[in-house]
Amino acid sequence: MRVGLINMEPQYINIAIEKLRLFHQCSGDSVEDYMPESRDCYDKIYCSSIFSFTDKTQVPTDAVCGGTGFDITSRLPPEVEEMKPKLNIGFTTRGCIRNCGFCVVPKKEGAIRAVGDIYDFWDGVSKKIIILDNNLTALPEQFYKICGQIRKENLKVDYNQGLDIRLITKEMTRELASIKHEEYHFAFDYPGLEPVIREKTATLIGNGIKRSTFYVLVGYNTTIQEDLHRLRVLRELKQNAYVMRYKRERVYIPIARWANNHSWFQAISFEDFLKRPENEKAYRDLIELYI
Ligand code: SF4
Repeated sequence: MRVGLINMEPQYINIAIEKLRLFHQCSGDSVEDYMPESRDCYDKIYCSSIFSFTDKTQVPTDAVCGGTGFDITSRLPPEVEEMKPKLNIGFTTRGCIRNCGFCVVPKKEGAIRAVGDIYDFWDGVSKKIIILDNNLTALPEQFYKICGQIRKENLKVDYNQGLDIRLITKEMTRELASIKHEEYHFAFDYPGLEPVIREKTATLIGNGIKRSTFYVLVGYNTTIQEDLHRLRVLRELKQNAYVMRYKRERVYIPIARWANNHSWFQAISFEDFLKRPENEKAYRDLIELYI
């Protein structure tokens, strides 16, 4: 059987597609990335997408489609789900304890549970792994197990989806400080989190984790002034931000350009960023509104 695979967002590794690749390779099938010119030669075409906004007009009509970008209830067959491609990126838990209104994880994955460990996706050679868990700190036993494996194998970890700062204890902070890591990610999605962000950031800094990056969701039940306030708090704490735009209003474009460039973010305020000659013309109306 000849199988064609389509990853609709090729800039990201699509784990479902890689599980399908491994499953069909193990079944003795011929598997390749889909080529439109070979369309009639495929016995089966799979297509996966992680974002609902990705253009899907070119998807072959006979493709088997799945992923959050198509349908959050779609699932791989169990025999495919159990495949373990060694991509150095993967999940050790699924689900989440929270129910943030903007997030599909609770609906898609349900309650949090452990689903494996680093040996399910680490190739034994790479010095770095990326963990995609959505809320590892909500399962402390699993958190310590995974950090322990990372330390034992002397790996550098990227907890790519962020850790829940509300759940970080002093002991967890010491654990995080003791392993090699990319800049840790947390979230500052609600203005009400400011006291906990201040308290936990002080603990992180006190244990040697001087700077982390905070995902900042803007435009979700917040005003622009509240969004800017959260960013100012992070600057004051000498932390980095990564703005995620929930609303597409134009003002969020310069906010994201400023905050997501960490050199700019640390060096100058948003007001000074807007006053720069290259921005002044493009955003003159915003300057009048916000400065
Ligand atoms: S804590 Fe994160 S993963 Fe959990 S529901 Fe909120 S945004 Fe989603």
